[in-house]
Amino acid sequence: MRLPPGLSSKDFSDALQEFEAAVGKQWVFTSDEDMDLYRDSYSPVWNEDDEPIPSAAVAPDGVEQVQAIVRAANKYKIPLWTISTGKNLGYGGSAPLLRGIVVLDLKRMNRVLEINDKNHYALLEPGVSYFDLYQYIHERQLNVWIDPPDPGWGSPMGNSLERGGGYTPMHDHFDAVCGLEVVLPSGEVMRTGMGALPGAKTWQQYKYGFGPYVTPIFSQSSLGIVTKIGIWLYPAPEAYFSGTVNVWKHRDLIPLIDVFGELQNAGIVRCGISLGSPFWLGAPHPEFDSMRASGSVKPLEDYAERKKMPYWSLPLSFYGPAKVVAAEWEYAKEKFSSIRGVAFEDGASYRFPLSDEDVARIRDTVPIGIPSLQIFSLLPPGSQGHIGFSPIIPMSGEAVLDAMAMFDRVHQELGSGRAALAVLGSFPRALVIIDLFPVERNVEHNRKMRELYRRLVQESAARGWGEYRTHTTFMGDISNTYSFNNHALRHFHETIKDAVDPNGILSPGKCGIWPKHLRKENA
Ligand SMILES: Cc1cc2nc3c(=O)[nH]c(=O)nc-3n(C[C@H](O)[C@H](O)[C@H](O)COP(=O)(O)OP(=O)(O)OC[C@H]3O[C@@H](n4cnc5c(N)ncnc54)[C@H](O)[C@@H]3O)c2cc1C
Repeated sequence: MRLPPGLSSKDFSDALQEFEAAVGKQWVFTSDEDMDLYRDSYSPVWNEDDEPIPSAAVAPDGVEQVQAIVRAANKYKIPLWTISTGKNLGYGGSAPLLRGIVVLDLKRMNRVLEINDKNHYALLEPGVSYFDLYQYIHERQLNVWIDPPDPGWGSPMGNSLERGGGYTPMHDHFDAVCGLEVVLPSGEVMRTGMGALPGAKTWQQYKYGFGPYVTPIFSQSSLGIVTKIGIWLYPAPEAYFSGTVNVWKHRDLIPLIDVFGELQNAGIVRCGISLGSPFWLGAPHPEFDSMRASGSVKPLEDYAERKKMPYWSLPLSFYGPAKVVAAEWEYAKEKFSSIRGVAFEDGASYRFPLSDEDVARIRDTVPIGIPSLQIFSLLPPGSQGHIGFSPIIPMSGEAVLDAMAMFDRVHQELGSGRAALAVLGSFPRALVIIDLFPVERNVEHNRKMRELYRRLVQESAARGWGEYRTHTTFMGDISNTYSFNNHALRHFHETIKDAVDPNGILSPGKCGIWPKHLRKENA
């Protein structure tokens, strides 16, 4: 039997009995077969000694049960790793960070508690998936849209707390969070924002409440177990239009991003983006990739010209009244026209509501708020998974070109055998550059991949770029780079952690923050 770190088997089996008393025997899992289901199938340490396979999982069905589990965990000093739907693939899946940690699986708490389609918000439990939420809204024909990330089987809870993103104007998921209910490490239940006011009428309508605003300290966090989340939804729009801006030269990226940034900051473009080169975002072009390795631009531009393919493509989506959508695209085209040779392509255009038959004909429904799993069909054939490397970089083409050149150099130096396949997404005022690192069920491949990843973390940090989110395996590495003034931020995080979670029972090591008793050995 696997054990939580530092625990005797006697204490562990006593604790399991208390968990069973809290949730029922059938909701406490310990068999190897069950633990296999909680392994991270995209693990970069698959089958290695330190692969973080849990010792047990416990699945409560309500807040009181969560509190009872937390009380038992405090009594026996058992570390818990909270998951909502546990689909965090690329960042740790449903596995904890350390071997033996108990997974607190909130999938059974899957009630849609409220949808308001006049002021456009939802109050949800952790186990509600994007599919569940969409279905609930669709069945009732409510006047709201959700914003799913690419795979729709995850949860608004897990994805928003991890600060994930989607495609509609609500694409910054943590930005859309309004009010949480949290079981604290002491077992006490707290509500943030207006929820602290008993009988509050605006818990999901005004974020800040009164006094210091604490909702954000529960994102990417080990300070609480979030049992209810308020999220803002998008009023179902009248129309959708997508158009692509194509440019032809390597350095055209610079004005492309300048104009995009201005349109985004002005609120004219409000969608999430996937900006990249059709040479690596579409069908494979190995010739292009190998030419990139040479670092010389001219052959690449010639290749693009020969293939009559744009060098960079920026797909944009517009949402709202049909007249406004048309005017926004016209205005965007006018602004992008300052780039020599720019070409525009009109894409999909819809008026809502769509019938089920219309929806069935649409290849990619995610940008129109309908969750799907079709992204998995776009992964390279034979893919066994990937890890996202995703530094935040300035909203400038120069920074992107600098990053791409650095990524390519490091890939070449460490012999990865591929060029960086980066795609750019946007947050307000900043870009995120995402390179997906393939993982395999092969120890040697994964070892090399980790070396490459860590080198990129270091080189990015040296240029002032830091990751927005990472796989559990690299949380310590990333946290080490956020080191201004002798790690003042980490000291502050640890001070809060020690105060609210003195026994260190919640998600130890999450984002590089360790409880006192595990701090030294994991420093
Ligand atoms: C092909 C592919 C495409 C992807 N595309 C996207 C994308 O477009 N956008 C995107 O954002 N992601 C994307 N991902 C990553 C991932 O699939 C999603 O982010 C997914 O939604 C996260 O899983 P989840 O919602 O089940 O969260 P969970 O796995 O349930 O939770 C994630 C983490 O959040 C914390 N947490 C969860 N619940 C709680 C709670 N109740 N209280 C406290 N802490 C909690 C825990 O640390 C947990 O490990 C993609 C992955 C793949 C494989």
